[in-house]
This record gives sequence, C-alpha cells and structure tokens, in this order.
Amino acid sequence: MTAVERVQAFLPDETSAALITSDVNRRYLSGFTSSAGAVLVTKTRAILLLDFRYFEAAQKSVQPPIEVMRMQRMTENINNIIPSENIKTILIEDDSITLAVFRQLDEALSAQVIAGGLSEKLSEIRMVKTPDEIEKIITAQRITERAYTEVLNLLRPGVTEREIAVELEHLIHVYGGERVAFDLICITGANTSLPHGVPGERVVRDGDFFTFDIGAVYDGYHSDMTRTVAVGHASDEMRMIYETVLEAHKKAQRAIRAGVPAAEVDAAARDHIAMCGYGDYFGHSTGHGVGLEIHEAPAVSGRCGTILSDGMVITDEPGIYLPGRFGVRIEDMFLVKGDEAVDLAEIPKELTII
Ligand code: ZN
Ligand code: ZN
Repeated sequence: MTAVERVQAFLPDETSAALITSDVNRRYLSGFTSSAGAVLVTKTRAILLLDFRYFEAAQKSVQPPIEVMRMQRMTENINNIIPSENIKTILIEDDSITLAVFRQLDEALSAQVIAGGLSEKLSEIRMVKTPDEIEKIITAQRITERAYTEVLNLLRPGVTEREIAVELEHLIHVYGGERVAFDLICITGANTSLPHGVPGERVVRDGDFFTFDIGAVYDGYHSDMTRTVAVGHASDEMRMIYETVLEAHKKAQRAIRAGVPAAEVDAAARDHIAMCGYGDYFGHSTGHGVGLEIHEAPAVSGRCGTILSDGMVITDEPGIYLPGRFGVRIEDMFLVKGDEAVDLAEIPKELTII
C-alpha cells in the first residue's frame, strides 16, 4: 500500500477526509517540497493544493494518483471540493496545527474539523521506510562519513571546536549534502560531558576526548552519527568509559530485530551502563527513528510502546557523561531487517586516537 492508500484506509468512512498541512507530511505524501500548501486526502482522491509559486513545478513533477490544484485561498478551495466529494468531516494534523489555525479552519470550512489521531497515524506510517527512502538515508550517511574522514586530518591540539564544525559543514555541502541534518555537535575536553554542547572557541588539547555528533540531509532524508575520538592519548579511565559505552552500543545493536519492543533495545544499553556503575551518567534515551526528520518515531526509550518491524531505521546512541570532566557517546543508525540490525555506518567504532 502506498502512503496515500494507508491514509485513505485510516479514514473512518466515505464522508471523511484528511487535511495534511505540515511541510514534512505534505512532502512525504506528495513527494513535492514546498513551504506552503496542503494535501487533501479523501476516500478516493488525493489533491495537492499549491499556490502560484509552486504550481507549475508541481504539475511537471507530481505523479498520479496525486492531483495538483492551484490554490487561491486554501479554505475556499476545500469548500469547493466538499460538496462534490460529499465530505462531512475533515481530520487535521493535531500535533502540528496551532489553536489559532484550528479555530480559523473550524470557522471557515463547511465540514466539521476534527483533531484526533491523524498526526500519530502519519508518524506510524513514516516509521517504516521504503527501499528508496533507505537509499537516501544511506547516501546522507556516506556524505557525512566522507566529510568526517577528511576533517579528522585537521583535528590536532590548537584548533578550535568551531573551526572543526565549520569545515565539516562545508565538506558536507561539497560532497552533496543539501544541508546539515542539525546544528553539528563538535566539542572537546570537558565540553564532551554536555550531550548537546555547542561548538565554540574552546581549543583542542592533547589528551582530550573530541565528540562529533554529525549528519547530512540528502533529498530530504537525514543521517545521524556520533564518534568520540581521543587526541594524542587516552587515560586508562577514558579507555574504560569508552569500552563501557561501546559494549552498551553493541548490546543494544544485538537487541534490535523485528518483533522486539523498542523499549528492550533501550534496556539493553541502559542495563549494561548501570551494571558498570554509571547509570546516573546516562540521562537520555538510547535512540530515535530517523527519516525526513532527524528525530522521528519510534523513540528508543523505556516509555516507548512500539514494536520494531522491518524497514524501520533507528539510532543506537548510549553515552556516559562525567560532569566537568569528559563524556563518550557512540551512535549509528540501524535498519531493522528480520532478525538482523543492518549497520548503516561504515566508520569503525573502536577507540580512535588521533
Ligand atoms: Zn546524533
Ligand atoms: Zn541521534
């Protein structure tokens, strides 16, 4: 079933429709990227409404069964469709629509506007990737890996976090990334204990850990990888923490397979770190889905009820963070494929000393 057919199957009856207005879900359903517009899905039709700026381009590229319609004013266009399709209720994206927009739609549309379950359904549909989506995620990862491998040549005592981050971002563009997947995390020394540290003027010193949490976007799809490397040398304690995190990462990896709750993958990493005495220093979830958004369903956390299935792409990213001292995180994306967790990264995970 295509994504549109799955939305159609979700519609409760012949007189209901779904109105998709968020950029990411509009793009997911139509394949067309725009900063405005809507997809109206009825039991039998899927109509992409776009204004003058996008209409011509969409007419050339959007494929049937999606119809492209020139949008003047969205609510007026939809009100013109409502009688001919006998639409009584319109489901909206309850997770992304503001209360102000909800009120406006509720007032202007001649069908009943309902907030209930559409966002959750769309994120559930998006969890399972098609082969084409997986290829794009892998391409984004290869771009990141090429940039990372090259930037390691610049990592030495005396350079700043910002210099490394700027060069990495530049190389991601050079190698075909349309943009970086998120604000790149390139941090050194004591800053590595900050899971989401921001690159600044801190200078790399001999004996530092340096953490890269990096990714690229290729044709809308994201990649996500974290490596922690040592500069010059690593103390026994740094090596021990690194090995603990690496073992937690591998235990989570071994837990990933179709039919397993995502919460079990989280527990595999968390239990190992707790058993080694560092449970208080691993304060985030083990991973997340990746796709058109850098963080999407499923959450790989203790609270997530999702059962893993074929085609899901999730990260495995445990870490240990010792405040004011240093931190280690190791992250890769895995594709769920039967009993296997296919590692989408090709960069070794063993401790690298630059
Ligand atoms: Zn990451
Ligand atoms: Zn991540």
